[in-house]
Amino acid sequence: MNYAKIKKELLKLSKEEREQIIKEINLELNPPVPTKSSVLTFRRDKLNNKQGKCPYCAHTGYVRYGTDKGSQRYKCKSCNRTFTEYTGTWLGGIHKKHLVDNYIEMMESKSSLDKIKNQLGINKKTAFDWRHKILSSVEHSEKRAFEGITESDETYFHLSEKGIKQIVRKPRKRGEAASKRGISDEQVAVIVTADRNREIDLSVATLGRIKKQDIKRVMDNRIAETTILCSDSHASYKGYAVDRGLEHHAIRVDLKQYVKQKVYHLQHVNNIDSRLKKWIQNDFNGVSTKYLQNYLNWFRSKELLKTSQNFTKEFKSLSLEDDQAKVRFKSIPMGYILLKKNSSLN
Ligand SMILES: [Zn+2]
Repeated sequence: MNYAKIKKELLKLSKEEREQIIKEINLELNPPVPTKSSVLTFRRDKLNNKQGKCPYCAHTGYVRYGTDKGSQRYKCKSCNRTFTEYTGTWLGGIHKKHLVDNYIEMMESKSSLDKIKNQLGINKKTAFDWRHKILSSVEHSEKRAFEGITESDETYFHLSEKGIKQIVRKPRKRGEAASKRGISDEQVAVIVTADRNREIDLSVATLGRIKKQDIKRVMDNRIAETTILCSDSHASYKGYAVDRGLEHHAIRVDLKQYVKQKVYHLQHVNNIDSRLKKWIQNDFNGVSTKYLQNYLNWFRSKELLKTSQNFTKEFKSLSLEDDQAKVRFKSIPMGYILLKKNSSLN
């Protein structure tokens, strides 16, 4: 069909139909510029809409108070201190803020630090620090209480000072005593907890075997009286459940029992554990213990936003909700020292 013929055919259509075709053709010729949601504006929007709080005292009363080098400044009505939209967040103190949106997009598309370094023109140390500033900020994102049947289990990673080490696999089909035989202070215990409502917790607990107080420390504030705890028959879990007066179902993996009364099992946490290990092994070839919690935060945020239509946008937004992220990032080296010290005291 040639042009004249097409035009003739088109003119046979109704006015509305022709207008619709023009619209569609125009849309194809000039696709709308995607509105890029910048990480730089999330917090300002929130603060300006009176949905924020003072990063120093958490008071919700504050007023706009001029600008500071292009950032919006606010003044707290309670403690009278001033802060900007970035104070306390991982963006506070970052100079090349114009690169952070690209950075997060590259981070989420699994770009290596070297690739990020080359593409964004920042040095590798900066690329590494930004990663961990961002990951520190999602540590406490949307943590809710566990509801109903809640599975919890420990898993182990080799203690690693440098980052690239093999991962310990926890044998599942052998008896408990055997599978956990050989757990030493060279192994980092991570407690994996999940309810059946997609709520997850992944916490570095200690070096070596976990104790009742480790369980208490990592999950106590997220356990409700109605929580039904499901774990292996480890004495620490039993003790914790007794202390809290929780309904507790111990799965005797050592007796090859995997499901109890059809609903009590550890399949969710075991599944999370195996995906977590694969991810850390395949994408990072292992990570250093010092930063392990941050990678757990990353994994958890991916799980949290699994069904999200726009993961990157929501991840950016989550990361800026934490106005204590900068402190959290700075305390990573001390956290690592304490992990080793506290474990040796146990
Ligand atoms: Zn204040």
